[in-house]
Parts: sequence; C-alpha cells; structure tokens
Amino acid sequence: MYRLHRNHYRAYMVGGAVRDLLLKRTPKDYDVVTDARPNKVKKLFRNSYLIGRRFRLVHVRFKDKVIEVSTFRKMPQVEDNATGDLLLRRENTFGTPEEDAIRRDFTINGLFYDIRDFSVIDYVGGLADVRKRMVRTIGDPSIRFREDPCRMIRAVRVAARIRFRIENDTWLAMGEYRNDLLRCAPARVLEEIYHLMKYGSAEASIRLLHRSKLMETLIPELAEFWNHPQDGNSPNTLLGRLDELQPGNPLRTPPLMLAVVFYPLINHQMQSLKPGDDLRARVEKCILPFTQRFHVPRRHLDRLTQIFIAQRWFQPDRKTRKRSKSLVNRSFFGESFVLANLRLNRDEPLWREQCNFWKDRILRSDISDSEKRNLADLMN
Ligand code: ATP
Ligand code: MG
Repeated sequence: MYRLHRNHYRAYMVGGAVRDLLLKRTPKDYDVVTDARPNKVKKLFRNSYLIGRRFRLVHVRFKDKVIEVSTFRKMPQVEDNATGDLLLRRENTFGTPEEDAIRRDFTINGLFYDIRDFSVIDYVGGLADVRKRMVRTIGDPSIRFREDPCRMIRAVRVAARIRFRIENDTWLAMGEYRNDLLRCAPARVLEEIYHLMKYGSAEASIRLLHRSKLMETLIPELAEFWNHPQDGNSPNTLLGRLDELQPGNPLRTPPLMLAVVFYPLINHQMQSLKPGDDLRARVEKCILPFTQRFHVPRRHLDRLTQIFIAQRWFQPDRKTRKRSKSLVNRSFFGESFVLANLRLNRDEPLWREQCNFWKDRILRSDISDSEKRNLADLMN
C-alpha cells in the first residue's frame, strides 16, 4: 500500500482482513484495492502475477504470503429481462471506491482501511454491524442472493467463524432463495463448502448450514440425519475434532473433509455391514449423489473410499502382529490415520497403545519430516 501511495495511487486494505483486525483476530489473508490498473500494479511489483481471465487482478507475493490486489470495480448493469433472472454472468468493470464497496457481499466485508491515517472508510454501514456483531448483505438480500447464490454459503461461513448473528432479512432471504444455489457453477459451490471446513470452525459452520436449511438444498442426504440425531446426541462429533487440527495442516484435504461431513451416513452403512458385503460400493452409494451434484473429481471419491476401507487397520483391539507395518508408506495413510484419530477416543487404553505403535512406525519410516510433523499434530 505504501508503494502504491508513493506512486500517487490510492490503496486500501479491504474485506475480511479489515473486519478481522477490528475484531482483534489474525486475518487469514490480505486483500488490497487500488485505483491503479492491473498492468500498472504488475509493473510496480516484480514479485507479482496477473491472474484471472475475464477480470484481471494481481497477486503480489511477500515471503510465504500472497496479497490480492484488485482495481476498484463496480457491479455490471443488470439488463432488463422479463424473467427476473438476476444471476450475474458478466464480470465487473472498473469503478469508484464507493461503487467497489457496494458491490461487495456483506457490510462487515465492505470496509476500507487507509494506512496513511489509520482511518476506516465506511460506505456501507459496516462499522455499525461489526459493533452489533451482525452479518447483513449490502443492499436488498433477495437481490444480492439471486445475483450470486454462493453468497448464502459465505454468510454461513463468516457468521460461524466470527460468531456473528445473521441479520433477520438476510436470514429470511436465505430460506427463500436457497434452492438458487443449484443454479451456481458446481465447482464454485463445492469450493465454498470446503471453505466452511478449512479454517477451524467446521462444527459451527455445518451446524449453521443445517439450521439455515441450506443443507437441505446442498446435502439433502445428510440433512435427514441432522434432523433426527440419534439419542439426542450431536449429529456429528467429528467436526469439532477436525477443528482441533492446526489451521494449515495439509492433511485436511477435500476427501478427508468429505469423509468427516459424511461420516454419520457412511458409519451407519458400515455398522450394518455383513461378511462378504462390498464396503467400497456401500461407501460410494452414500456419497455418489453429492459427488455428481457438485462434480467432485473421481480421484477424490476413490481416496475417500480408501480412507474408509483403511479404518479396519485401526481397530483398537487389533493385535500387533496383524497390523500392516508398511501401511505408513501408503499415500492414503495420513488421511486415514486422521480419520481414525477423529473417530476413536484418545482416552481408551487400547487405542492409546495402538497410537504409540503407529507413532513409532511413523518416526522410523522414511516419509518426509514435514509429513511427520503433520501427523504428530494428531498425537499431542
Ligand atoms: P476470509 O477471512 O475467509 O478470507 P473474506 O471476507 O476476506 O474472508 P474472501 O473470499 O477472501 O473473503 O473475499 C474477499 C472480499 O471480497 C470479501 O470480504 C468481500 O468483500 C468480497 N467478496 C468475495 N466474494 C464475494 C461475492 N461472492 N460477492 C461479493 N463480494 C465478494
Ligand atoms: Mg480474505
């Protein structure tokens, strides 16, 4: 931002980072907006890359961080059409700072921070909503959610992560337009679903996904389970355990995240398994509709099946001589071991004893040190 200023451009910090700093949280990443055009930004930073085909932005790399620098832009004019279809298909065009603020999703995400005088510029009423701890769309939620239904999942994510409430009209619009989510590009929806689980608030996020009924649209197979938790228990205790994993642990892969979310369903199938039944087919049956709905790649589905099949190696009462000693070298060991750790009770002596066995195997195996560290994260 200082470099852009020195070159007579405007530059503000924007989005989640401003919101998080106001809440004294550590931002996950940093976004900057400027009136410099992408090619000018590119020229000012040697360590930068132009990305995006239709709307270009610049990624500037500092050490291990990437800062996304975009140019102020505005919402495209929605063409009049008789169908009332508001879905945005075209990319935005350059605009003023104010236009840039009001095209954003939520008031708390539309604040600019100016490092020159440490001021916050608020075109959208975001400061008041930060104080009220409220997630509210900028403008009419029934329009903003129809323009981009993925914003509904984003509302769930941000509310769960920073423990804000969703403002009433925003909440009602989510109930009304949730089925529009099936009109979005499947890959984008899938990405947003993974985002719910990546940053340490999987449990709160999936709960809110259920409470807002978005789950009934996105994962109806699972909503059934959540509507009737057995014995009044939490419908999925694994999510909370997943949140205890270090934020950046690369073992939190898409197949593992799916394994955790779908665990109640798949576990139910595994319980009723009889000798000779095909476990792979059962697991696939549980998740196939979801993978087809959101175009989950086949290799992720295969990996998820492997993770479940591998669980038999981690039965707490499994005899030492029956444990596969080379399992640690298999590509699916890490994720499978994570799932076993999430499922099984650390305080159970037999599982603790077995964990010591695996710890020893992991330390003596020739997997890389960083992989060993990721696995050690589980056993502390
Ligand atoms: P996080 O802390 O998870 O990064 P974030 O709010 O920064 O949260 P990003 O996905 O990094 O989320 O997006 C950066 C900013 O871009 C948002 O704060 C918001 O202002 C804007 N934005 C992102 N997605 C949308 C969208 N679908 N519609 C409108 N604005 C969006
Ligand atoms: Mg961000």
